[in-house]
This record gives sequence, C-alpha cells and structure tokens, in this order.
Amino acid sequence: DGFLAGCMDRLETPATIAMAQRARALKARGEEVLSLALGEPDFPTPAGVIEAAHRAALDGQTKYPPVEGTPALKAAIIRKFARENGLTYEPSEVMVSNGGKQVIFNAFMATINPGDEVIVPRPYWVSYPLMISLFGGVPVFVDCPEENGFRLDAATLEAAITPRTKWLVLNFPNNPTGATTTRADLEAVAEVLRRHPRVHVLSDEIYEHLVYDGHAHVSIAQVAPDLKGRVLTLNGVSKAYAMTGWRVGYVGGPAPLIRAMSGIQSSSTSGICSISQAASVAALDGPSGVVETMRQTYDRRRRMVVDALRQIPELTCAMPLGAFYVYPGIAACIGRTSAGGRYIGTDEDFAIALLEEQHVAVVHGSAFGKGPYLRLSYATSDEILVDACGRIATFVAGLQ
Ligand code: PLP
Repeated sequence: DGFLAGCMDRLETPATIAMAQRARALKARGEEVLSLALGEPDFPTPAGVIEAAHRAALDGQTKYPPVEGTPALKAAIIRKFARENGLTYEPSEVMVSNGGKQVIFNAFMATINPGDEVIVPRPYWVSYPLMISLFGGVPVFVDCPEENGFRLDAATLEAAITPRTKWLVLNFPNNPTGATTTRADLEAVAEVLRRHPRVHVLSDEIYEHLVYDGHAHVSIAQVAPDLKGRVLTLNGVSKAYAMTGWRVGYVGGPAPLIRAMSGIQSSSTSGICSISQAASVAALDGPSGVVETMRQTYDRRRRMVVDALRQIPELTCAMPLGAFYVYPGIAACIGRTSAGGRYIGTDEDFAIALLEEQHVAVVHGSAFGKGPYLRLSYATSDEILVDACGRIATFVAGLQ
C-alpha cells in the first residue's frame, strides 16, 4: 500500500489483454475458443530468417550488441527506407529497439513533460494513450469517423493543436480499423504541421506491407521532405515477416532525438537480442515474395470475412484497405438481450456475451476509443474464420 509509484495508477491493463485473459480462462475450463482477438500473424517465421539466426548464433554473434543496433541491421534498415519509402537516413538517424513498442516508449519517455499533449487519432492502438499517460502526458483524441473512412481530417487535426502539443501520432495502415492513408491526406496534414513548427510526428507504419486492392503505402516523411527533421518513421519485422516473438522494431528520425532515445534504451534494456537482429537483416534483405504470399492470403481472408459479416443485417462492415483487422459496427445490437439472457448495453457486453455463449473472442471497439464496434483479426486460419463468422451470425440472430 503506497509502495508503488504514483504513475502506476495510470497504467491500466489494456482491454485487448483483458479479453485474451478471459478467453484463456474459458480454455482452462476445457472449452474450445475461436480467437479473433490477437494482432498476430498466424504464419511461421520464414525459414530463411530462422536459418540466418542459427548461422549467427553458431558464428559467435552472441555478445552484447551496440545499444542502437548492430551495424549490419542498421545498414539493412537504411537500405529498406531508401528502397521502399524513398527516405535517406544516416546511421546516426536510425536505431533498433525491442519491437516497435519500445520505439514508442523511448520516444515518449525522452520527450514528454507532465502536461504535454499528444494528439492521438481515434480509434487508436491502446498502447499510445497508455504510454503517454505513464509519462504524465495528456492524450488528445481526434475522431476519425467511419463516414470518413476512419481517415484523419486535416481541419479536425488543426483544431486540436494547442501550444502544449508535442506530438501527432499517425498510424496507417491502422490498428484497429485497417484504414489507410493517401498522399493527398498526408499533404493536407503536412500543410497543418507547417503552421505548427513545434509539433513532431510519430508515424507508426508497422503494417506498411499489408495493403490491398492496389493501395500503395506512403510515408509522411516522403510526402513532406521539409518535415523529415521532426518525423519519426517507425517500422518493424513483427507484422510483415511474422516475427512477433523476435522483438525487433526500428525507427528513422532526427539524430538528436535518436540519440536521446538511445540513452533511454541504454539505461533500460541495452541493445536488442543479437540473434534477432541477424534474423532481421535476413528478413529485410530477403526475397519480397515471402511477404507477398502472406499478403495475398490476408487479402483473401479479408474479403471472405467482410462478405460473411455483411450477410448479417444488424452489422455494418467497411472494407478495410490495410492491416489484418475488420471493424464492424454493432449499433443495431445495443439495447437487446442475448439468447443466453445477457443484456447488451455496450460493445464490451457484446464481446463478453459472444465469448461466453459462442466461444468467439473479439475485442470491443470502445477499447480502442470508439464504440459500438468490434475489432476482428483475420490473421488466423480460413476454417477458424468461417466457423467464427457463423457463430457471430448465430449470436446476433439470437438477440431479442
Ligand atoms: N504499432 C501498432 C499499431 C501495433 O498494432 C503493434 C503491435 O500490435 C505495434 C506497433 C508493436 O509491434 P512490435 O512491438 O511487435 O513491433
């Protein structure tokens, strides 16, 4: 009592993790649970990547690596940014962290003073506001409504900027909505930022490779080269290469900020697992066909799930252009009662009742700041997806 630091009051368990715990509890009771709750590829890591890790370990790459990343991985990252994003970075402008998550943690810890504001488009990935609050910052939410394709409107953004605004978070392709951004959208955002020279941008592009229907991903630092000095371009190997467990993320940005972030990392984790870094070199330099095959599979599943959900009259379901999530609206289900007698007052009630009665795990949209919606991940097998959509239809049909 009173032993924990004051900031712990602000560190809530993310609803995504709470839902996974509920699903685990159900499984522990011997029930089979179909999980569409996790933002994690179901593919194995490509064999060539694993072989590179094996070789690196046998080769003696088992010592403390430099805090900001091995020279080999930093060089591969610089090549990647040049090849895929048209961005030129020096070695002093890139660093490697323990997943994209630690990039965000380092960046916010290195820059947020109590009371500083960070603009977070809503719906958002839960970790942004949690980390901002942890450092005493204030998340300022800007709505990206479904009517606007969950895109960020430049005028709405500008209205939210104050003298205390330090960062704008951009996350396209987006978790949880799957929304993408266009060059024109980013040009409008850049126009706003030019009028507010203090505001920096954290551009989380971790789902960059997972885009569909011919959509081409664009980076804000590429669209607005004049802003590159205040943009962090975040990426990682977790989602594109099915490497969530290897814990490698990376970032390009201005050298002074990178140096500060490296200082934080030096006093917390030191450098990132040397073997994971060697594996990541193989991923980034490897054949692009590996990513393309997975992308095509996600694309097929995306259309399959949206088709299935659109057959349910009570749901609305936008066709997402990126990531591996769909974000159906469930407004017509609110205020009703499930076949099992549970009152559905919120999307969280819906998600819990669906899990308890049909054993399908999803995450409610209000966990990402915007209900009544559900987030379904289609990074799982066709069989599970078909079965789960069928059970969702049964659940909705049973609402009184
Ligand atoms: N950014 C977004 C939007 C994510 O959804 C995730 C993972 O769920 C991450 C960053 C961090 O991924 P990692 O730490 O595995 O690189």
